[in-house]
Amino acid sequence: MTVTKTLPEKMKAIIKDAPAYGAKLVNVDVPKSLEPHEVLVKVKAVSICGTDLHIWLWNDWAKAHINVPQILGHEFAGEVVSVGKNVSLVSIGDFVSSETHIPCQHCKQCRTGNMHVCQNLKILGVDMNGAFAEYVKVPEIVLWKNDPSVPPIWASVQEPLGNAIHTIFVEDVTGKNVLVTGAGPIGLLAIGVLKTAGSAKIIVSEVNDYRRALAKEIGADVVVDPRKESLVNVVKKETNGDGADVLIEMSGNPQALKDGLTSLTNAGRASLLGVYDKDVQINLNDLVIFKAIRIYGITGRKMFETWYKGAELLKNKKLDLSKIITHVLDFDDYERGFKLMEEGKCGKVVLKL
Ligand code: NAD
Ligand code: ZN
Repeated sequence: MTVTKTLPEKMKAIIKDAPAYGAKLVNVDVPKSLEPHEVLVKVKAVSICGTDLHIWLWNDWAKAHINVPQILGHEFAGEVVSVGKNVSLVSIGDFVSSETHIPCQHCKQCRTGNMHVCQNLKILGVDMNGAFAEYVKVPEIVLWKNDPSVPPIWASVQEPLGNAIHTIFVEDVTGKNVLVTGAGPIGLLAIGVLKTAGSAKIIVSEVNDYRRALAKEIGADVVVDPRKESLVNVVKKETNGDGADVLIEMSGNPQALKDGLTSLTNAGRASLLGVYDKDVQINLNDLVIFKAIRIYGITGRKMFETWYKGAELLKNKKLDLSKIITHVLDFDDYERGFKLMEEGKCGKVVLKL
């Protein structure tokens, strides 16, 4: 039997209704019918991700991955209002957020601690209806119980925060000089996390003026506009000629990757989260092999290792998101939120319901 609070028939949702730019705010049915392991969550806050922006812009990636009509969104926090008959991990009234990667729980990766790269991965808001709605339906396996002290707006950005944590902590950063290329929403979160982790100098490269200023405010020691000065020279100068110990690549820009690898000290480490539009050509011999660089490809979050880290940082007030979340808008004002993301005049943008 499914246990349910009294629910309305209809809900507001931001839907991609046609294969074109934009999205519409419409009334749709509340997804009340639940499979045995499904949970219905009343959304309180939902944050706009770069993936949502791709879908909004209807770029080549979106054309290849999204079937319309579909509700966008996947970074959210809310309250459990209905549970399928076999749900045991959460109860009605729980304050939750959610992992976006929905694992099959059966494949080799799922059974060896690598659910985030499940062979049969489904993605919330990409392969199924998402969380830009008053209610969202998710399997219980992806839910994360939040501490009640964490505001829903902050809890909604734990998913991208987990990207930053995953990228940073594949090796330690304490006492190390770290270069972050790209201070988009996730790069900004990374700066906040690096501050908590006792890294030495944090050098940030970013082409967007607004975000360079924000990076400085959040705590970057040095910010560089790579169009105006040589990133490699600045990094060398700031690190006694050695180069950075760690590269955190969060721009998805090939030149930033090349400059980042060039800026690394020999035997340094690179963690790559950025996603590139096309194939990238680099001189592997000079930039990686003869420098003995360790490169990590980072996708998603470690489930649920990175969630524990992020949630504890928030619960214990070690990480302040107030400067990183630059805009909190009403749900109905979503078009403004997407425009801000398009223009890059923002950190994280969150819609509240
Ligand atoms: P974003 O696109 O908003 O941010 C990228 C930032 O890089 C922008 O602020 C941009 O101005 C800056 N940039 C562009 N060219 C640059 C250059 N040459 N040098 C320095 N900065 C430059 O993206 P985001 O949401 O912050 O995400 C960061 C990256 O991670 C993106 O590439 C995104 O696609 C990717 N991503 C990967 C995963 C994953 O699982 N691997 C998950 C989420 C996001
Ligand atoms: Zn799997």
